[in-house]
Amino acid sequence: MKSYVSQKIKDFLPRIRNFMEDEVYPMEPLMGVTEHEQFNGMLKETREKVKEAGLWAPHRPLSEGGLGLSLSEFAMVSEELGRSPLGHYLFNSQAPDIGNMEILRLYGSEEQFDRFYYPLVNGDIRSCFAMTEPEHAGSNPLWMSTTAIKDGDDYVINGHKWFVSSADGAAFAVVMAITNPAAEKNHHRASQILVPVSTPGYIHVRRIRIMGYAGRGYFSHSELRFEDCRVPQSNRLGPEGGGFAIAQERLGPGRIHHCMRWIGICERAFEMMCARAVQRELSPGQKIAHRQVIQHWIADCRTEIHSASLMVLDAAAKIDHLGQREARLEVSMIKFYVAGVLERVIDRAIQVHGGLGVTDDTLLAYWYRHERAARIYDGPDEVHKSVVARHVLREYGLEISI
Ligand SMILES: Cc1cc2nc3c(=O)[nH]c(=O)nc-3n(C[C@H](O)[C@H](O)[C@H](O)COP(=O)(O)OP(=O)(O)OC[C@H]3O[C@@H](n4cnc5c(N)ncnc54)[C@H](O)[C@@H]3O)c2cc1C
Repeated sequence: MKSYVSQKIKDFLPRIRNFMEDEVYPMEPLMGVTEHEQFNGMLKETREKVKEAGLWAPHRPLSEGGLGLSLSEFAMVSEELGRSPLGHYLFNSQAPDIGNMEILRLYGSEEQFDRFYYPLVNGDIRSCFAMTEPEHAGSNPLWMSTTAIKDGDDYVINGHKWFVSSADGAAFAVVMAITNPAAEKNHHRASQILVPVSTPGYIHVRRIRIMGYAGRGYFSHSELRFEDCRVPQSNRLGPEGGGFAIAQERLGPGRIHHCMRWIGICERAFEMMCARAVQRELSPGQKIAHRQVIQHWIADCRTEIHSASLMVLDAAAKIDHLGQREARLEVSMIKFYVAGVLERVIDRAIQVHGGLGVTDDTLLAYWYRHERAARIYDGPDEVHKSVVARHVLREYGLEISI
């Protein structure tokens, strides 16, 4: 355990760790090989056990049955949960639901709380977030064509979205759509609208096949169409034209959650790498770990994971104390840095495992496929590097665009 953790974390973390070891890791070998319905039943049962253990939705306030953790404290929990691909889902703190819970709590109306927020917090339903469009560069979130036009008391939505994570099985989508095309500033043109998936005109086109892990239930990313999809204006989340500002509120903490989940993966992959290097002999008495190049990889991984973890905790603490606007530089730095560490650690762990590393007998190949996207979603590396450079160069009197 890290040396500077709060009493709350000292109390909860060992319990979470024990639960992961006793209940979650043993389920991993069944992923993808157990029949879908049966595996879903097992997930449901284990989620009940998380509730009974008093560890459910750790990111939520105490008043909502969560653990009442600060973002920095939750970051440490997220690292622990991230050690398994099942961790966050079993504790009901998985993306994109966790981000949707956050914006609903901040901006939801009483009706939206009853209809969407509480069922999400209880784990009765799932949700998705539909912003990116095939026709426009997702790296520029201000550029979109989906519209929501007022008609009587309703909005009528038309548009095309893709890479909508977890849309398959979601009860509702948070849809970014242009409501104020004439707004002077681009930032004020879009709103976020809650669209139940049962609404006529909400069309689930397909689950997109990605790096060979499509077809695995909630690991799906979907393409959607909205064709004269009509919802009441009361389904708008927050103020009209406030969609982009709300998206920003969601993305800061969301990137902390992702980064700590990635560090959890790094820690587990690193442990596997060291265990294999110490156990596997290249010739009698000569372990893989005896080779200097492997020792250097071990040193590189340990140091990179440690620095990544400290950077994320620092960004989380800054958000806790000063708000996320003040932490934009730190959030961009961790987004590309930690995604890079993740890629390098998994790659080295696979290399040390040799042929075994690319089989599905360990989790390494799964992570290698699944986590390549880390350098793309929530802003590609290049965009975040430009944000960092912009902050730095501003100090030198030069304004650059991104
Ligand atoms: C697994 C996964 C899950 C996702 N989940 C969701 C979701 O739930 N909801 C949702 O709305 N979206 C989601 N996305 C979409 C994601 O946010 C976009 O893919 C991302 O913003 C990049 O947009 P794009 O794919 O259109 O790439 P583009 O914008 O076309 O960019 C392509 C490449 O161009 C380069 N580039 C872009 N901008 C710059 C720049 N300023 N400087 C230099 N180079 C640049 C980068 O190399 C970038 O990778 C998901 C994506 C993936 C892969």
